[in-house]
Amino acid sequence: MSLLDVESLDARYGLLRAVRDVSFSCDEGDILALVGANGAGKTTLLRSIAGVHAPHAGRIVFDGAEISALRPARRVRLGIAMVPEGRRLFGSMTVEDNLRVASMHARPGPWTIDSVVDAFPQLKPKLKSLAGQLSGGQQQGTAIARALMTNPRLLLLDEISLGLSPIAVDQVYASLQRLVAMRTTIVLVEQDLGRALRFSSRVICMLEGGIPLRGKSHEISREAIMDAYFGLDRGEPGARH
Ligand code: ATP
Repeated sequence: MSLLDVESLDARYGLLRAVRDVSFSCDEGDILALVGANGAGKTTLLRSIAGVHAPHAGRIVFDGAEISALRPARRVRLGIAMVPEGRRLFGSMTVEDNLRVASMHARPGPWTIDSVVDAFPQLKPKLKSLAGQLSGGQQQGTAIARALMTNPRLLLLDEISLGLSPIAVDQVYASLQRLVAMRTTIVLVEQDLGRALRFSSRVICMLEGGIPLRGKSHEISREAIMDAYFGLDRGEPGARH
């Protein structure tokens, strides 16, 4: 049984259909990358799974139970955590307090302040610092660590590289390898296509709210993805939908 099933999902802002009839599944331990141009609908799809955007139609099933109508906090308790674009930390609270706040809604599981600091060692000397005073990379580490404090079974990551130096991005992804080793299921939006393909097991390319292309990350070509990004169809065979 899949951990996550998204079935014919439609998400709108007024009349704008940001996500159109999208269906896909994720098994436990999958790393699924969502790629596509700005405005393709990736963030809206993640927000719909997390419960912060109410879909217009379709179903979201998590671990066999429909969650489409559940509030975000209920989804967190079931094991869905999202790291939003822009991180949204409590800037005037310490890193440690940011982590503790998240643990108030936690499921039982392996993640504690000690274990998240092991995974994100750059946070160790910063636990008593105000989150707003950290570097971008440290803030991103804190945002992911905060999501981990809820002990998620499914982690949704939205553009975690955005605005970070290449070294900081490398550090964040190095820490994520720990989660991969623990078989955490991850759905991530990543603009850096090369990194998205290297990190993920499967890739979904979105265009204008739909999915023109999907496949295994080690099988799919960059050319096919670039074509799907821009809506080109060169008539190649593949996993088009
Ligand atoms: P980006 O990389 O720019 O975040 P994206 O693929 O994540 O792009 P979304 O942010 O999901 O795409 O946007 C999908 C569509 O919905 C776009 O046309 C966008 O302009 C529109 N949209 C997104 N958020 C809102 C909003 N709060 N109100 C109205 N329209 C929105």
